[in-house]
Order: sequence, then structure tokens, then C-alpha cells
Amino acid sequence: MSYQVLARKYRPQRFSEVIGQEHVTRTLKNAIEQGRTAHGYIFSGHRGIGKTTVARILAAALNCRSKDHPVPEPCGVCESCTEIRAGNSVDVIEIDAATNRGIDEIRELREAARYRPARDRFKIYILDEAHQITDAAFNALLKTLEEPPGHVVFMLATTAPEDIPQTIRSRCQHFSFRAVRFEEILGQLRDLIAREKLEADEDALALLAEAGDGSMRDALSILDQAIASCTGRLTSACVRQLIGAAPSSVLEEVMRAVSRSASEEVLRLADHLISEGQNPAHFARQLVRFLRNALVAKVSGKDSPLLQISGDERARVARIADVFSEEDLARHLQIMLRTFNELGYRQEQRFHLELGLLKMAHAQRLLPIEQLLSEAGVATPSPSRPAGRPSIVTENRGVAAPTSRGNYVSPFAADSARKVSKPEMSAESTPAIGPRVVSNNTGPAPVVMGANALHPELETASSEVPTPAEPSKPASNDLDSVRNAVLSALGDAGYRIVVSMLETGEWSIEGRELIVRVASTAAGIEMSLGAEAKRVAVATASGTMGKPAKFKVLPGGTAQAAPARTSTSNGGGRARAAQEPIVKRLQEKFGAEIRTIIDQRDKK
Ligand SMILES: [Zn+2]
Repeated sequence: MSYQVLARKYRPQRFSEVIGQEHVTRTLKNAIEQGRTAHGYIFSGHRGIGKTTVARILAAALNCRSKDHPVPEPCGVCESCTEIRAGNSVDVIEIDAATNRGIDEIRELREAARYRPARDRFKIYILDEAHQITDAAFNALLKTLEEPPGHVVFMLATTAPEDIPQTIRSRCQHFSFRAVRFEEILGQLRDLIAREKLEADEDALALLAEAGDGSMRDALSILDQAIASCTGRLTSACVRQLIGAAPSSVLEEVMRAVSRSASEEVLRLADHLISEGQNPAHFARQLVRFLRNALVAKVSGKDSPLLQISGDERARVARIADVFSEEDLARHLQIMLRTFNELGYRQEQRFHLELGLLKMAHAQRLLPIEQLLSEAGVATPSPSRPAGRPSIVTENRGVAAPTSRGNYVSPFAADSARKVSKPEMSAESTPAIGPRVVSNNTGPAPVVMGANALHPELETASSEVPTPAEPSKPASNDLDSVRNAVLSALGDAGYRIVVSMLETGEWSIEGRELIVRVASTAAGIEMSLGAEAKRVAVATASGTMGKPAKFKVLPGGTAQAAPARTSTSNGGGRARAAQEPIVKRLQEKFGAEIRTIIDQRDKK
């Protein structure tokens, strides 16, 4: 007996056997029960998720001879049902629109549709790949759909429903099929393995289900291959070799090396993979998926339904998500996507892969843009300018200035510190604390250590370091005076954007916390309020309140009318904007131009 591929052997014959498309099958069954079937159907969705299968089941249900009317589930044993299953029913005509797409074929179809079905209730046309039909042919089809003979039903299966003319679509019931979930594919594979009396490791099946990528047919066809090529029990090693996948542990290793900017190790891992016969393009693709999953785990947690992967794989991407920030992951994903695209049409694939991997390792040292922007917000570098956050000077003078190595904050620690501070974007810190290295103005330019080496002060932010209140000033808890002091200190330091954001905010003091609710988003706050500005605000608030204060800027406030403050410059908005250091810097760096000026203070 010839071998029948699994996808055909186990093709569902009843609506209840279709996996992952309950929203479609339920509606169709209900419609049949209520006798409200249509003359045109569009089934859309990715390949291999059951569109044609559902069309055939619907055809069988409509024509089943077990009752004298359409039935919600075909009986599977009557002449009509068996003929449809075998594909030789006279009244159910399947047309591959990819090859029969012209006007002549459709005209022929139209002619034939005029005649009553030979035996069954309906004459049913299943048009596969319907989007390939030419426009002229669609027009011809439209004539039939406009006034369909009562006995004709059209079912259009397509992967691109948007390519079907609106005039056709509006005359059909449209069902869009969804990608089959990982667990559903896995369950089906398990079931088939048992029915075929085969043995398989669970992680081998998980690999197959993942490789199916939402398509049951794809997963089954790889399973066919696996059964043919792996002797005895199906193991993950065997399946991995079949689909040419690198072990996911390698993906994790590569990303860990990237997180440490360990270029040499990255190259060594790539070399190892390639010498084992891995295809660079294939590996890049795996890495793209892996990074995408890690990013999803970062954004929506490792239990997110957006992750269609096995439990082991979930744990793995979650571990990597912990190592990187969201921005880093997005950046790495972008780099690998570009690398993957380039690999497609380049020679010397290996070098391109290596270049892509090295770019990631380097990108790990780049500064996030918000940090760049917040530093650009520092007006003028006065001699007493405090050290830029991560600046590390090669020449350390005096005090317990740690060595650059000692001051290095691991990406892990920095990232978790950042995460701790994220939930409410609280901008709290205590002034003049933590292991800071004093910048030597005559020394070499500050060296920025890495994207994640920023905010070393956040680690110590929670520790209570008493701040020496400025003795000359009387302590005051009066909200207005604290507010004015902070605003003018920020203004003096050149943080005009911060000032204009804060002065329309709702200010309050709760215990030691000075809280400003502003009409901005968390991201907006983070963009405008740099660590230096925070430090100025905290120092001033602590000084005025006479005790160590915390300073929080929270989103979600409503804009308040800014109290009259004497504007330091009364030039036009455009002139003022052009004076902003941040704008100047953007013009310098990116050739930006000023297009629209919105004066937030005028907005009431
Ligand atoms: Zn039947």
C-alpha cells in the first residue's frame, strides 16, 4: 500500500474535527441549522490552516444525503459524502484558480452553473487561491454572484482576501481563519503519533509544532519527513537536524555574549555553528525569531499568548529578556532582521552573519537616545558641572574614586535597576550619592561605557543617604516656595523644557515626596527629564524643605495654568525654540529643522 501523507490521511471530515478554527465552524454549523446558508463564501487566512478542508466539509454538509436537508455535520457515509472525500463528486467542483484564472475558465464555469446539479442539492464550486483570478474573470464571476441560481454555492479560499474585488467580497460571507495555536498543533501531533503507533520525544514534537509556525499542514509535512528520516523514536536532535535548526541553547549563548559585548566569543560561537554545517541564513532567521520572542516576553511577560512556543523555550526567552532592556532588544531585532534580509541575496553569507552579530555586540555599547537628549539638555558646561552620569575618567584624582572596572555596572544590574524605576517612571534620587567619578576637565574626554552602564545612581537611589540641608536657607514646607525654588533652580541650570513641563503640572508634597503630576506620557517625561535635571530638583527641594526629599514626576495630570512667571526671553516662539540646546543639538546631529512650535504655556 502506498504511503499516504499524514495531512491527507487525517484530514478532518467533520466540523468538530477541525482544529483551531472554532469561530468559523461554529458559525457555519449554526447557519446550516437555521437554514441560513449563503451563495458565496470567502475563506481567508494563511496556508495550511484548513480553509479548503472547511470548504469541503461545508460542501458535504450542504449535500449530505443522510437527511432531506443540509445537516450541521456531514454523515461521512452517504454517496455524496464519500464522493466529496474522494474528490470525485459531480456536483462539488474544485478549481485551482492559480492555473484556471482566466476569463475563459470562468465563462465556462458560469455556463455550467446554470444547469441544475446532477444529483445533489447544490452545485458547489470551490475556488482555491481565488485571489489569483484575473479582473476580467472576476467580472464574469460577479454576474453569477449578483443573481445566483438557487442551487449554486461559491466558496473562495484565499491567502490574500484584499486582492478579491470589493464587489465580490460584499456578496460573500467572509470568514477569516486564524493561525493555529502552538498548543493545538502540538496536541494534534501527539494524537497522530499515538494513532500511527510511533514514539516521539515531547521536545521533538514541540520543535515540529514550532516549525509549523501556525500552519497545521506545514507541521504535518515536516512530521512526515521526520518519520521517514529518523529511525525509531523521534528525538529532538533528529528533528533539529532535519529542519536545520541550531539548538536554542546556542541562541541563548550568543545573546549572552552580545550582552557582555564579548565580540570574540560571538565570533567563536558563529564559527562553531558554521563548522557544524549550519546555514548562516537559517541561523539568522532563528535568531530573528528568538529575539522577537524575547522582545514579546519583555513587553508582555513570558506567559503571553503572543508567544507560540514550548515551555522550555518560554523560559529561555524570558532569561534573555531579563538581560536586556526593551530598547536593546528592539535594536538587536532590527539589526538581525536587516542581516537576515541581506543574507538572502548576498554572497559570503558567513561574513554578513558575523557582521550582523558584531553589530549587536557593538550596539550594546550605544547610548539610548533619551540619554543623549537629556544630556543635550545641559545648558552650558560650567566649570563646576557635575560629571555626566556614566562618564569615567582615565585619570582618577584623590578620593576613593573607583577604577573604571570597579565602577562598571553590569548590564544585569543596570537593567534591573532601570526596571525597578520604571513602573511609575518615578524620577527619584537623592543628590550627591553613590560612587561617582569626578570628571577631570583637563583630562581626556569622558568615555561612555555602555548603554546599560547608565544610571549607576539608581542602584543606590533607594538607600537613605541624608542630605545636608543648606544651612543658610530656612527650611520651608510651603508648597509654593518649594515649587518656585525648584523651578527657578531648573531654569537657572538651563532645563527650560523641563521647566515648561513642570510649571503646568499639579504639585503636591506628601511626606518627604515632592510630586508633580504633568499632562504628559511616561515616555514624554522620561524623554524630557534627564538624571541631571532630577538631581538639581532633588537638591533644591531637599534644601528648601530642610530634609532629604524625593522628587517624582508622574504622568496623567491635567495641565494647569502656569502662574505668571517672568519670561526671560520675549522673542518669538520660533526664535526661542531655536535657542534651545536640545534643538540645536538635534539640528547639528541630524540636520533637523524646526517645523511647528507649540507653546504648551498658551494651552489652557
Ligand atoms: Zn452524508
